[in-house]
Amino acid sequence: MDHHLTEDQRNIRDLARTIAEEKIKPVRAKYDEENVFPWDIVRELAKVDLFRVFIPVEYDGLVESPSLGITNMCLVTEELSKACAGIALAFAGTALGTFPILLHGSEEQKRRYLPDIAAGKRLAAFGLTEPAAGSDASAQRTTARRDGDEYVLNGTKVFITNGGEAEIYTTVALTNPEKGARGASCFIIEKDTPGFTFGKKETKMGIHASVTRELIFDGARVPKENLLGREGMGFLVAMKTFDVSRPGVGAQALGIAEGALEETLKYAHTRHQFGQSIMNFQGLQWMLADMAMQTEAAKALIYALAARIDSGDTKDIGHLSAMTKVLASDVAMKVTTEAVQIFGGYGYMTDYPVEKMMRDAKITQIYEGTNQIQRNVIGSWLVKEAARLAG
Ligand SMILES: Cc1cc2nc3c(=O)[nH]c(=O)nc-3n(C[C@H](O)[C@H](O)[C@H](O)COP(=O)(O)OP(=O)(O)OC[C@H]3O[C@@H](n4cnc5c(N)ncnc54)[C@H](O)[C@@H]3O)c2cc1C
Repeated sequence: MDHHLTEDQRNIRDLARTIAEEKIKPVRAKYDEENVFPWDIVRELAKVDLFRVFIPVEYDGLVESPSLGITNMCLVTEELSKACAGIALAFAGTALGTFPILLHGSEEQKRRYLPDIAAGKRLAAFGLTEPAAGSDASAQRTTARRDGDEYVLNGTKVFITNGGEAEIYTTVALTNPEKGARGASCFIIEKDTPGFTFGKKETKMGIHASVTRELIFDGARVPKENLLGREGMGFLVAMKTFDVSRPGVGAQALGIAEGALEETLKYAHTRHQFGQSIMNFQGLQWMLADMAMQTEAAKALIYALAARIDSGDTKDIGHLSAMTKVLASDVAMKVTTEAVQIFGGYGYMTDYPVEKMMRDAKITQIYEGTNQIQRNVIGSWLVKEAARLAG
């Protein structure tokens, strides 16, 4: 279904689809095997202005206020992920790292950073997770001590998407450790900051074209002008960021599911057993019917929430944002697993893309808050709803 996208949105989707078909599909297996960052594809995305789709026009982007460009961001992420979810993450991880600046940056900070991100000259990343602060993101240990006109950062972030490749890192650190999460602040940290280095590069089950790396702050000196919002707002910045970025994880999962469904339909049409196409077997048609139905349902929820955010209505969307991510990622896991099943033994082999899609799908149930944590978010909202309904 087309979901009544505007002409501009359809054009953006079609452009991303063309890049996915012509530039990504031919190289996705190579990237999956070689575990390298897809700089050549990033340059292609920049060349056709796709990094501009979530940046306001005032900063060289394509988005008119009040829209945050979430529908655009989801459409591009979805289309790229149909071909390769790992490569798509260079784009989606940059959007994630940019949202804190879009949502809470000063005019000066926006002018300084957004035009380069829009042009695809500099990628971004978002650093929240630490060794002891995963699901419990409030258990931050990284500190940022004020020293004259600078903050001095010490600590380690783990599992950071685009780590080492991005130039701009929006990162949370404690400016007032005694206050815990209320003492956290968010900073913009540039790659060449003295005292800021990169640690372990992770070896992963899937999304091999995405880099996941440690950020190490050892007396890193950041100018006070790089504080986002005010001291103590760091956790709020992170939560507001996730409210608008989680539909993007949903879109990544949706793209994986759609890609797997497409590959499966093509395969089932041509594979013959018992003297006929396996597409004729009702047992498989029912599996495919569930796959198609669940994928469309995930798409409808993601597009609906993205449209709501782009209308400027971002109040109380935490539970909806969580729903997009949980629904779509659970669908992606189910659809890709069924896809491998329908391919039979061939699905288990690397000659076909569905085993990669199944490995890639798994991460969407884990990052930007695991699906258990998202269900906690939805559950907390339901508890309040229950109290409201009961009067
Ligand atoms: C490839 C990859 C890329 C990532 N990219 C980024 C990034 O760019 N930036 C960033 O900041 N982080 C990033 N992350 C981190 C990611 O968001 C965390 O891994 C995730 O939030 C889970 O934290 P954890 O790994 O510490 O798991 P844990 O928090 O240790 O969770 C372990 C298990 O316990 C469950 N659990 C924990 N608490 C509860 C609870 N209260 N109720 C029910 N179940 C619970 C979890 O669901 C999970 O199943 C990335 C991770 C990966 C793997």
